Amino acid sequence: MPELPEVEVTRRGVAPHLDGKIVTAVTLRHDGLRWPFPDKLAARLCNRRIHATRRRGKYLLIEFDHGTLILHLGMSGHLRILPKDTPARKHDHFDLEIGAQVLRMTDPRRFGAVLWHGAEEGPVEEHILLRGLGVEPLEEGFSAEMLYRNTRNRSAAIKQVLLAGDIVVGVGNIYASESLFKAGINPKTAAQRIGLARYEKLVAAIRETLAAAIAQGGSTLRDFMAANGQPGYFQQSYFVYDRAGEPCRVCGATVRQLKQGQRSTFYCPNCQK
Ligand SMILES: [Zn+2]
Repeated sequence: MPELPEVEVTRRGVAPHLDGKIVTAVTLRHDGLRWPFPDKLAARLCNRRIHATRRRGKYLLIEFDHGTLILHLGMSGHLRILPKDTPARKHDHFDLEIGAQVLRMTDPRRFGAVLWHGAEEGPVEEHILLRGLGVEPLEEGFSAEMLYRNTRNRSAAIKQVLLAGDIVVGVGNIYASESLFKAGINPKTAAQRIGLARYEKLVAAIRETLAAAIAQGGSTLRDFMAANGQPGYFQQSYFVYDRAGEPCRVCGATVRQLKQGQRSTFYCPNCQK
């Protein structure tokens, strides 16, 4: 599943091809993805200029004067920039044509989203899918003080609180496990029992883990222009994620796996207290 780093790398890959360009055609090859496609999308977007391509959490926001196109990659979606005559394949559901190129969304499982938020509805941050999102982990508002203050009455496990997304957004399953390992915090610890000093470590670990993943993903940027290539989501070498039963890379103890809210958590019982 694309997590925040993949979405940010996607944004960096497609933005230079979109920003400042005028939409020349819109093609929909299905009724919709997770939700139906917006009504009259081609009429809304054709001959309109794209101002900027931003990201909020795992949503890509393609901004126009009169509103914002909101894209989400769901479980299996990806975006590519292709020459406009490139034949569509089975799971290519949405094309945004900008002159000689096309932004193409491929989504085999169709859990992704293409939505429109008109300027008359207010700021896009007020959209129902965006307004409950917590702070961006790579921006200034994310700090140990903020995390500490917002968890004083949260008895849930810290891993669950990170994944909930209402305090900090986009720290998905992989990066939550990895960050808790680096910070030496057991994922089962109640969020309200973690002190400021340990949150300092956790904030640094989250920033470092996400930034490293984005930097690594930057080397795959060329794939966004490859006519036939799949822009593969990058495989990294993890400390604990997906390593149950294997030795901890730091202390050699056996990495454990547990279920928290239907999601697998991986941790080292020796390094994480
Ligand atoms: Zn260990």
